Amino acid sequence: MSRLTLAGCFDPDGERFGIPTYPWRYAPDDLATRRQLRIRGLRPGGQDIAAQILRPRRRREPLTAYLYRVDLARPVRPMTPARWAALAKANAARRRCPECGQDAGYVIPPTLGACVTCAYPEE
Ligand SMILES: [Zn+2]
Repeated sequence: MSRLTLAGCFDPDGERFGIPTYPWRYAPDDLATRRQLRIRGLRPGGQDIAAQILRPRRRREPLTAYLYRVDLARPVRPMTPARWAALAKANAARRRCPECGQDAGYVIPPTLGACVTCAYPEE
Protein backbone atom coordinates (compact mmCIF):
# COMPACT_ATOMS: atom_id res chain seq x y z
CA MET A 1 0.00 0.00 0.00
CA SER A 2 1.40 3.36 -0.97
CA ARG A 3 1.79 5.93 1.73
CA LEU A 4 -1.57 7.11 2.92
CA THR A 5 -2.13 10.84 3.11
CA LEU A 6 -4.84 12.59 5.07
CA ALA A 7 -6.60 13.45 1.81
CA GLY A 8 -6.24 9.81 0.73
CA CYS A 9 -8.37 8.84 3.71
CA PHE A 10 -11.32 10.78 2.36
CA ASP A 11 -13.60 8.19 0.79
CA PRO A 12 -17.16 8.97 1.87
CA ASP A 13 -18.66 6.52 -0.64
CA GLY A 14 -16.35 3.65 0.30
CA GLU A 15 -15.05 3.24 -3.26
CA ARG A 16 -11.49 2.71 -2.15
CA PHE A 17 -11.86 1.14 1.31
CA GLY A 18 -15.14 -0.72 0.96
CA ILE A 19 -16.88 1.28 3.66
CA PRO A 20 -17.25 5.06 3.98
CA THR A 21 -13.96 6.41 5.22
CA TYR A 22 -12.98 9.79 6.57
CA PRO A 23 -9.71 11.29 7.74
CA TRP A 24 -9.19 11.61 11.48
CA ARG A 25 -11.29 14.46 12.93
CA TYR A 26 -13.20 14.97 9.67
CA ALA A 27 -16.05 12.55 10.27
CA PRO A 28 -19.60 13.86 9.92
CA ASP A 29 -21.42 14.83 13.11
CA ASP A 30 -24.05 12.11 12.77
CA LEU A 31 -21.37 9.42 13.17
CA ALA A 32 -19.52 8.65 16.38
CA THR A 33 -17.03 6.15 17.75
CA ARG A 34 -18.08 3.75 20.48
CA ARG A 35 -16.31 5.95 23.02
CA GLN A 36 -18.00 9.10 21.77
CA LEU A 37 -21.38 7.37 22.01
CA ARG A 38 -20.58 6.33 25.56
CA ILE A 39 -19.91 9.92 26.58
CA ARG A 40 -23.45 10.73 25.44
CA GLY A 41 -24.85 7.74 27.36
CA LEU A 42 -25.36 5.73 24.17
CA ARG A 43 -24.17 2.41 22.78
CA PRO A 44 -24.13 1.10 19.19
CA GLY A 45 -27.05 -1.21 20.00
CA GLY A 46 -26.23 -3.99 17.57
CA GLN A 47 -25.95 -1.86 14.46
CA ASP A 48 -23.21 -2.55 11.93
CA ILE A 49 -20.19 -0.31 11.57
CA ALA A 50 -21.31 2.62 9.43
CA ALA A 51 -17.92 4.07 8.54
CA GLN A 52 -14.33 4.28 9.65
CA ILE A 53 -11.85 7.02 10.29
CA LEU A 54 -8.20 6.62 9.42
CA ARG A 55 -5.20 8.40 10.78
CA PRO A 56 -2.08 7.97 8.66
CA ARG A 57 1.11 7.13 10.53
CA ARG A 58 4.69 7.03 9.35
CA ARG A 59 5.81 3.58 8.22
CA ARG A 60 2.95 1.87 10.00
CA GLU A 61 -0.58 0.88 9.27
CA PRO A 62 -2.98 3.78 9.79
CA LEU A 63 -4.86 3.99 13.06
CA THR A 64 -8.43 2.95 12.48
CA ALA A 65 -11.53 3.77 14.47
CA TYR A 66 -15.00 2.52 13.63
CA LEU A 67 -17.97 4.83 13.51
CA TYR A 68 -21.59 4.17 14.29
CA ARG A 69 -24.71 6.11 13.37
CA VAL A 70 -25.84 8.28 16.27
CA ASP A 71 -29.49 8.07 15.16
CA LEU A 72 -29.41 4.26 15.48
CA ALA A 73 -27.62 4.25 18.84
CA ARG A 74 -29.48 3.11 21.93
CA PRO A 75 -29.25 4.31 25.50
CA VAL A 76 -26.82 2.45 27.72
CA ARG A 77 -28.59 -0.38 29.56
CA PRO A 78 -30.51 1.17 32.45
CA MET A 79 -29.94 -0.08 35.98
CA THR A 80 -32.37 -2.87 36.87
CA PRO A 81 -33.22 -3.92 40.45
CA ALA A 82 -30.92 -6.95 39.98
CA ARG A 83 -28.03 -4.76 38.86
CA TRP A 84 -28.59 -2.37 41.78
CA ALA A 85 -28.63 -5.35 44.15
CA ALA A 86 -25.37 -6.71 42.73
CA LEU A 87 -23.77 -3.29 43.06
CA ALA A 88 -24.97 -2.89 46.65
CA LYS A 89 -23.65 -6.35 47.51
CA ALA A 90 -20.24 -5.52 46.07
CA ASN A 91 -20.12 -2.26 48.01
CA ALA A 92 -21.22 -3.97 51.24
CA ALA A 93 -18.40 -6.51 50.82
CA ARG A 94 -15.90 -3.68 50.53
CA ARG A 95 -17.21 -2.17 53.80
CA ARG A 96 -17.06 -5.42 55.78
CA CYS A 97 -14.05 -5.75 58.05
CA PRO A 98 -12.27 -9.11 57.60
CA GLU A 99 -11.14 -9.01 61.28
CA CYS A 100 -14.41 -8.46 63.16
CA GLY A 101 -16.86 -9.14 60.33
CA GLN A 102 -18.77 -5.92 61.02
CA ASP A 103 -19.99 -3.46 58.42
CA ALA A 104 -17.59 -0.61 59.14
CA GLY A 105 -19.86 1.93 57.41
CA TYR A 106 -17.05 2.91 55.07
CA VAL A 107 -14.89 1.09 52.55
CA ILE A 108 -12.08 -0.75 54.36
CA PRO A 109 -8.84 1.04 53.41
CA PRO A 110 -6.59 -1.44 51.58
CA THR A 111 -3.59 -0.08 53.49
CA LEU A 112 -5.21 -1.04 56.82
CA GLY A 113 -6.86 -4.27 55.66
CA ALA A 114 -9.31 -3.93 58.56
CA CYS A 115 -11.66 -1.40 60.08
CA VAL A 116 -10.02 1.39 62.08
CA THR A 117 -11.19 -0.15 65.39
CA CYS A 118 -9.44 -3.42 64.57
CA ALA A 119 -6.39 -1.77 63.08
CA TYR A 120 -5.86 0.46 66.15
CA PRO A 121 -7.44 -1.51 69.03
CA GLU A 122 -5.74 0.51 71.80
CA GLU A 123 -7.04 3.91 70.68
ZN1 LIG B 1 -12.98 -4.67 62.43
